Amino acid sequence: MKIYGIDFTSAPGKRKPVTLAVGELRNKQLTLKEIHAVTHWEEFETFLNRKGPWMAGMDFPFGLPGSFLSTVGLPHDWKKYVSAITRRPRVEFENKIKKFKSKHASPYKEPLRLTDVLASAQSPLKLVNAPTAKMFYEGARRILNSGASILPCRPKNNNRIILETYPALLARRYAGSYKSESKDSPAKKAARKKILEGILSDEFQSEFGFSLSLSEALKDRMVKDARGDLLDAVLCSLQAAWAWRQGKPGYGIPGRQKALLRSEGWIVDPSLNLEEAAPKLSGSDRGSTQKASENEAGNLLEKLKKLTDISLALSAERNLEVLLEMIMDKARELTHADGGTLYILEANKLHFKIFQNDTLGVRMGGESQSPLPFPPLEMNESNVSSYVAMTGHTVNIPDVKKHTAHNFSGPRLFDKKFKYKTRSMLLVPMKNQDEEIIGVIQLLNARKGPNSKSLIPFSHENVRWIQSLASQAAVAITHVSLVEEIRKTYSEVALARDMAMDANAAKSKFLANMTHELRTPMNAIIGYSEMLMEETLEQNLPEIHADLEKITRSAKMLLDLINDILDLSKIEAGKMDIHLESFKIQEVIDSSIHNIEPLANQNKNTLKIICPDNLGYMVADMTRVRQALINLLSNACKFTEGGQVALEVKRIQKDGTAWIFFSVSDTGIGIPQEKIRSIFSEFTQADSTITRKFGGTGLGLAISQRFCRMMGGHITADSEVNQGSTFTMKLPVKVIPFTKHPRRRASDIG
Ligand code: ADP
Repeated sequence: MKIYGIDFTSAPGKRKPVTLAVGELRNKQLTLKEIHAVTHWEEFETFLNRKGPWMAGMDFPFGLPGSFLSTVGLPHDWKKYVSAITRRPRVEFENKIKKFKSKHASPYKEPLRLTDVLASAQSPLKLVNAPTAKMFYEGARRILNSGASILPCRPKNNNRIILETYPALLARRYAGSYKSESKDSPAKKAARKKILEGILSDEFQSEFGFSLSLSEALKDRMVKDARGDLLDAVLCSLQAAWAWRQGKPGYGIPGRQKALLRSEGWIVDPSLNLEEAAPKLSGSDRGSTQKASENEAGNLLEKLKKLTDISLALSAERNLEVLLEMIMDKARELTHADGGTLYILEANKLHFKIFQNDTLGVRMGGESQSPLPFPPLEMNESNVSSYVAMTGHTVNIPDVKKHTAHNFSGPRLFDKKFKYKTRSMLLVPMKNQDEEIIGVIQLLNARKGPNSKSLIPFSHENVRWIQSLASQAAVAITHVSLVEEIRKTYSEVALARDMAMDANAAKSKFLANMTHELRTPMNAIIGYSEMLMEETLEQNLPEIHADLEKITRSAKMLLDLINDILDLSKIEAGKMDIHLESFKIQEVIDSSIHNIEPLANQNKNTLKIICPDNLGYMVADMTRVRQALINLLSNACKFTEGGQVALEVKRIQKDGTAWIFFSVSDTGIGIPQEKIRSIFSEFTQADSTITRKFGGTGLGLAISQRFCRMMGGHITADSEVNQGSTFTMKLPVKVIPFTKHPRRRASDIG
């Protein structure tokens, strides 16, 4: 029988071809004839049309996860959805995936097929880093068009048979990472060598039921090929050959008649085989009768369903303690283990989180049980749990007495103290989606059945279930830990914010009270000194008069400052109200100019007013509008010497609203670009030398901006150093009353 193994790519070319391994399976031997590169799609299509009989294993996802199909409204029938997707350009399919991902949170962004869960394969919805979605698009349509029999998606009476294979699943048995994208590393080369040795070993032969034969030259090429494409193609051919040997009708695909598998596709590999996964049927020749095969398929699917249910339950749990206990319960349920410990790796130590033992009647950890008193384990390779956390390897120990690779002093002490007998042990690392090891699941003493007392070692099947569970668990734990961390940080921030808000409110209240208390004596000082000034004038006491003038000027400045602070603190405390009234715009302009003239004259500035005659009325808080306008004008006069200060006022219709713009321009010192934003903050001046030279507090603009915002408008600034500035106050002609909302506290949000 001709067997092909194909390492696929979504864009074949000279740099990255589709790699085709050609073999011949005869009796119990697969002879590898050649491996060659296919660099064009036409060449690949010609290959698909090669005369049968042949069987080909290809490593791309033939189908898509059911959850994705349902969400985006595609039919579940394989031929129908492949045709529907590939009838349109690939970019449309990619956009569909992107849209799907944007609507889902991790880890639901990249859902898995059932077969991916079991094979620990990546989602077929990946667009980068092994873009499985692109491979599906390019591959599925070509195999569909070839008219070959595609199992289990589209079986046909055809002697060209195509199956999905996954070389990593086979490679993992023998070594870890073995592919280099750029420069090859000695470790990866050694891994490829190890895999090659593995597939040539007796162990392989006894599990796969046939041996592999190939020339030394081919072996050499496989080890040298840094990208691992040649090795992958050969691994695919081995999985295909194994499937061929399983024979009709399923070719090693369990439950191939089930709609789910026909829609999503299935990876063929002995580790996903029902013969091992389902308990052996007594008295019947396994697989020889249709009925037995149906039973086995049913049994496997039941288990698969269980695993899917577990995975859904795990991903839905949001409480970390409950989640950890649930993981241990499920792990023991799946393997009938008598005891189990769950460790979490934190700060380079393994922390005991869950401890359960049926024989001793102990349950510790989790939310409802008593906390664990054991100190964390240091990372030390001689301790088997630490070894698993350090290396990421699964360790299955059928009999601890015969296992010398690790030191069991801890469990021995435990056994002695509690009169327990640890016999078998299974340890599986929990690796999350980023391949980080986050903890270890340790199980003790598998039992024959759920209620049986008799102990048996953990089986290969147990190992696979727990590995699957561990990866689901790791993703769920990482997810929940992240959410908890964010929630904790959020509540800390919320608390800090509330405290700051409370402190701020207290400060504002204090300032409001204080300034009010200060204003009364300040007004008295000003009043009395003005009275005295009149008297000194009458009595001709010029020296005393000059002193009194100084007192009055200083007191007025102080009063201005107190008023500003009072305004600001009132706004901050939410006590500043605006009083809306209808007034003539021209009146506000006239009174502001009148107010500002002495300052303009003092600095030898000319004042220019540009405004139409028919400005009309506006509805706003007149006092606040005038205050803000005077502030802009006095700044312009203050920061300009011997120049021009212009006020331009116009009505503007924008977005269906009538606005009034007051623009104050000057030819003064200007403001550096990077400072423009900050001058609207309280107590901020563009330059610290300004206070010394021009005086001021840095409060005027902050207050004016706030007034404008309270009236539904705002102030913008435009400036150039040494050229001048333009401040524009923009207000609606008719201010809409502002409704006060109670302030929401961050910690109330939860
Ligand atoms: P004050 O003028 O009391 O310092 P303001 O809040 O009114 O406070 O202004 C803040 C800062 O903005 C001023 O100190 C000054 O640096 C800058 N500024 C405001 N208006 C002008 C202007 N027309 N020309 C140059 N700088 C200005």
